[in-house]
Parts: sequence; structure tokens; C-alpha cells
Amino acid sequence: MRARTAGRPGPGPGGDEASTAGTRLFLALARVVAAMAEIRGVRSFTLPYPNAAQHALDRAVTHCLDIGEAPPRSLPELLRWCRVRTSDDRLFGVPASLVTPGSTLVHPVGLFPTRTCLEAASHGEPGGVEREAHTLLGDLADRCGYDERFRRCRSFLARHPVVQQRDRFGPGWSTSVWTRVRGLYQPLPTSLVVDGLAVRCPVCGLPALPGRGGRTPLPGQRTADDEIWCEGESCPRDADFELIREPEETLVLRRSLRAFLVLPYRVETAALKALAGAGIEYGALPGSSGGYHLPAAGTGTVDLRMYDRTQPGLLAARLAESPPLADRTFVVVPPRLAARDGYRAAFTAALPGPLRERLVLTAPDDLVRRIGSPTGGGIQTDRPNQEGTTDDA
Ligand SMILES: [Zn+2]
Repeated sequence: MRARTAGRPGPGPGGDEASTAGTRLFLALARVVAAMAEIRGVRSFTLPYPNAAQHALDRAVTHCLDIGEAPPRSLPELLRWCRVRTSDDRLFGVPASLVTPGSTLVHPVGLFPTRTCLEAASHGEPGGVEREAHTLLGDLADRCGYDERFRRCRSFLARHPVVQQRDRFGPGWSTSVWTRVRGLYQPLPTSLVVDGLAVRCPVCGLPALPGRGGRTPLPGQRTADDEIWCEGESCPRDADFELIREPEETLVLRRSLRAFLVLPYRVETAALKALAGAGIEYGALPGSSGGYHLPAAGTGTVDLRMYDRTQPGLLAARLAESPPLADRTFVVVPPRLAARDGYRAAFTAALPGPLRERLVLTAPDDLVRRIGSPTGGGIQTDRPNQEGTTDDA
């Protein structure tokens, strides 16, 4: 996808009319799936349907008739399609430059919106999932002031996507922080509870779920990768899942913040640690986004943006919608994404030409080398600025 005006999502150059309509249907369904899952879980869609869902069904029926496919007979059937019909299915025809072929909106094991779904639901439209996360953080910053208090609250949220009753008596618990952030948590949805138990992933810290017919994995009990799903979606399975024995006493951070704060925060922490280790000075950019500037990293302005996005085309589109203002911006993503086949190429290809010169995709473990490369500006070895460090609350 190339740069386009925010609010007008489409398949990009070369897409024909059917592909454009299919892409718009895919993006509309992403927003419906994300919104409905937030309300009552994808497993239990029931009447009455929200207007947006009915509108998506109508749009799907029209599109199917236009392309000669049998239309869905109901919204539940359309939602089942979201589990099995991929972005490159004839139904959608989403260009590979926007969404990686083979992607679905609902995870076939977890039966929850995929990360692709949440990213697609944030694309080009006001009020998307990512926007909600930014709004919630902005409101928090307004209540705290953009200072140390906000930094502590943001760090707490990122490190505590799930809060159990016992956490409140554990080390590092801050009542003053909890008082400010409590409203950003909600009860653990019943759709995440199986046999009276819930689980969370030890790697990403986010909720997990056994697949259909699967059982809650007890400590020490091995579970096949394809029998369990976690919201991080790509975590290694070499450690036991953490059992949540009192799910009714457990709170979980809002979904938008789990996707757009908790996941990239791990990248942010690793990147800042790498900078501090190399003695590279940095400071937080104004606002609540977690961006940083490097005041002495060579000629011109240099900054950092941290992301954990499974779709490089949508990430490029996001950056193209509101391009960073710095002369050079390091776009830091998890090492597994930077190393994924085709990720870097897809990201670069999806950027508008002028941004390709200014944006450098990298991972935390390669950041310092990139900053020191001829195209990345020089390394400064001044004392680290503590403004952006990520100590826990
Ligand atoms: Zn995980």
C-alpha cells in the first residue's frame, strides 16, 4: 500500500474494483469483529446485532452477488468466514502489499480477533482500536500530567496486562498508581475462562486460551502449539502457562492497550536498554506515544518509534498517514519480525518514496549499530538521559 489520505482505506494502486470492494469489506469486518469481541466475545455473537455488523453483512451480500459467490445467509455465517477465509481469498482479494496473504480476522484456535484484525481495524478510520489506546493514554496523561507520574502509570499498565487479587499484596504494588489506572481494567471476560480456570502466556503476559476441545494446560503439562492460543500469537512455547485460579477475581487491561501498549513496550524497554548500554543519549518525545528523540545522534533530527505489528504493510500505512517529522526515524520492531521473511521488504515497499529515505526499520539488538552506520548518523557517548527509562512503578 502507498500513502493515501487517512480515512480512505483501499487496496492501493493496481487494485481493480472488486479488489477495492473486497478490501473495504475486509477492513469493515475487522472493525466489526474487534468491536463485537470487545462487547461479548466472538464465541457468543447473539441478537441484536450492532448496526455496523448489519451493515457489514449487507455489504458482504452485495459484494458476493457482484463477484458471483454465494452470499452469507447470516451474520454468524459471515463471522465463521472470518475464521477460515483469508485476506487473499477471492472474497476479499486484499493486496499482499497491505495484508500478508493467508491472514484471517478471527484466530482459528483462540476464536478471538487476530492481531491482523486489530491492526486492520485501526487502519485509515477515525475511532479505530489503536486510536482508542492513544485516547485512553492521552486521558491518563491529562489526569497525571506528562511527567514522572504518567510515566509510572504507563509502565505499570504495560507490565500488568492482567491483575490478580494476589498482585495487590505483592512487591512493587503502588496504591497511588492503581488508583489512577484502575478504570482502564475490566473483569476477565468469561470467554477467556475454561473449566473455571484461565491462563496467561509467560512470554507476552497476555491472556491465552486452549483451542476448541482443548483443555486448560496445567503446570508441567505439555500442550501442542496448535492447541493453544495467546494474544501475542507468536510466542515460543517452551515455558509453562501461568494458571489463573480465580478468574472471577482477575482484571484485564483494555484490549486496545494490550495490543498497542503492552506488546510494543517490550520493544521499547529493549531498545532503551541498548541505547543506555551504548551511552547514547535519548529523551521522550512530547505526548503519550512512547516515541523518543536522540538529541546527539548526528546531523539533523533523529527519533525512535517502537512498534510490534504483525502486518508490515499496515505499519507502513500507519506511518505514511502521519509521518514522523524527524530527518531520520528508526522504526524499532521485535527481532522476530525484523528477521521474518519478507517483513522488511514489504514494509519498505509499502512506504511512499520520500519516507523510504527517512525511515529505518530495525530491531533493538541492531539499533546501536544502525545509529552508528553512515546512513544512520553518528554515535554519541554522552551520559544517558534518564527521562525515558522504564523502571517499574
Ligand atoms: Zn504470548
